[in-house]
Amino acid sequence: METRADLLIVGAGMVGSALALALQNSGLNILVVDGGPLTVKPFDDNAAFEPRVSALSAASQRILERLNVWEGIVSRRVSPYADMHVWDGSGTGNVHFSASSVHADVLGHIVENRVVQDALIERLHDSDIGLLANARLEQMRRSGDDWLLTLADGRTLRAPLVIAADGANSTVRRMTGTATREWDYMHHAIVTSVRTADSHRKTAWQRFTDDGPLAFLPLEREGEHWCSIVWSVTPDESERLMKLDDEAFCRELEQAFEGCLGHLISADPRLCVPLRQRHAKRYVAEGLALIGDAAHTIHPLAGQGVNLGFLDAAVLAEVLHAAAGRGERLADERVLSRYERRRMPHNLALMAAMEGFERLFQADALPVRWLRNTGLKLVDQSAEAKAMFVRQALGLSGDLPALARI
Ligand SMILES: Cc1cc2nc3c(=O)[nH]c(=O)nc-3n(C[C@H](O)[C@H](O)[C@H](O)COP(=O)(O)OP(=O)(O)OC[C@H]3O[C@@H](n4cnc5c(N)ncnc54)[C@H](O)[C@@H]3O)c2cc1C
Repeated sequence: METRADLLIVGAGMVGSALALALQNSGLNILVVDGGPLTVKPFDDNAAFEPRVSALSAASQRILERLNVWEGIVSRRVSPYADMHVWDGSGTGNVHFSASSVHADVLGHIVENRVVQDALIERLHDSDIGLLANARLEQMRRSGDDWLLTLADGRTLRAPLVIAADGANSTVRRMTGTATREWDYMHHAIVTSVRTADSHRKTAWQRFTDDGPLAFLPLEREGEHWCSIVWSVTPDESERLMKLDDEAFCRELEQAFEGCLGHLISADPRLCVPLRQRHAKRYVAEGLALIGDAAHTIHPLAGQGVNLGFLDAAVLAEVLHAAAGRGERLADERVLSRYERRRMPHNLALMAAMEGFERLFQADALPVRWLRNTGLKLVDQSAEAKAMFVRQALGLSGDLPALARI
C-alpha cells in the first residue's frame, strides 16, 4: 500500500522533529518517518547521564521555547553554564568568556541529546503531524512530479517534497546523488561523563592539547561535580584510551586536563565517535531540501552542530509558511533556494572559522604557537572582542528566523 503526504520528513532526530513542529497547523499533510521506535521513556532524575550531550545556544533555546518543547527539557534535566575557559595546553594563552559581559544570565545549556529528543517526540505525539516509527528508508526515486520512497519493510511513500533530516550518513543525500564535500579530521572523539572532586562552577572548559581539543562541559546532578567530556585524539590514541580500565582512564584524563577540577573520581562507559567534516554542495533541488547533519557536520569543538540544525529548521519552516501564504508551489526549487540562500553562507562561515581554529591549534611550529598564545591573550584583554564571541556563542548574530528572535 502506498501512503501519500504533502511533505515527508525523513529522520525524527532533534532537527527533523523541530522542523515538523515548526510546520504544525500549516494545513499541510506532513509525515515524519524514522528508523527508530520513537518512544518516550519516563525520565529518571537519578539515571546516569547519556554520553551524547549538546551545548544549546540561546537561539536554540528560544526556538524550542516557541515550539513548546523547552518546558519538557527543563522538567527533565538541563545544566546551565555562565562562563567558559579556553586555554592552550602547550602555551600560556587563555581566554575567559562570561555571560555577564553581555548582561546575560547564561551562555547556554548543556543538555543530553536523549532529553531534547524525548521532549520533541512528546510534543510530536500531541500534534497533528503523522509519525511513522521503525520505518527505515532504503530506496527513493523520482516518479512524475513526486518522490517515491521505499522502506526496509517494503512499504512505499509518495510526496512532492522530501526533507532530508536523517543525519550525518543521510540515506536521502546518497539516494539523490547530492554532491558533498567531505573529509576525515583524522581524529576520534571519546565522549563520556566523569565525576570530579572540585565543583565545575557552571563553567565550560576547553583545553587545546597537542593531540586535539579536550572539553569538560558542566552537568548538574546532586550538585556541580559531573562533567560531560569530549576528548578529540588521533585514531591510534583513541584505541589505546578506549582499552584502559576506568581507573587508568581517569588518571590519564586528569593529566590531560591539568587536574583543573581536581581528582577525577569515576567515569561512565565511554563512546568513541570518528570525526568527519561534511558539507553538501547544494542544500536543495526540485522537491528536496537537506537540513541539520544531513546538510553539514562540523567539528564538535564548535559545540554548534545541532544549533545550526535548529536554525536550518526554523528558516526552512519560515520560507515554507511564507510561500504557502502566497499560494506558491512548495516543492519548487526556486522556493526552496530561499532557504539555502539564508543558511548556507552562515553555516559555511562557521565551518571555515572552526577549521581555521582547529588547524591553528594543531600546528606545532613555534611562530604559530606564539601567534595563537598572543592571539588568545589579546582576545582576553579586549572586552569588545570577547563580547563579539559571546554574542556569536549565544546565537544572537546574523540573519535570525522569527522563531529565534527575542
Ligand atoms: C562528539 C560530538 C559532540 C557534539 N557536541 C555538540 C554540542 O555540544 N552542541 C551541538 O550543537 N552539537 C553537537 N554535536 C553535533 C550534534 O550531535 C548533531 O549536529 C545533531 O545530533 C544532528 O541532529 P540531526 O537531527 O540533524 O541528526 P541525527 O541526530 O543524527 O538524527 C537523524 C535521525 O534520522 C534517522 N535516520 C537515519 N537514517 C534513516 C533512514 N535511512 N530512514 C529513516 N530514518 C533514518 C535516525 O534514526 C535519527 O533519528 C556533537 C557531535 C558529536 C559527534
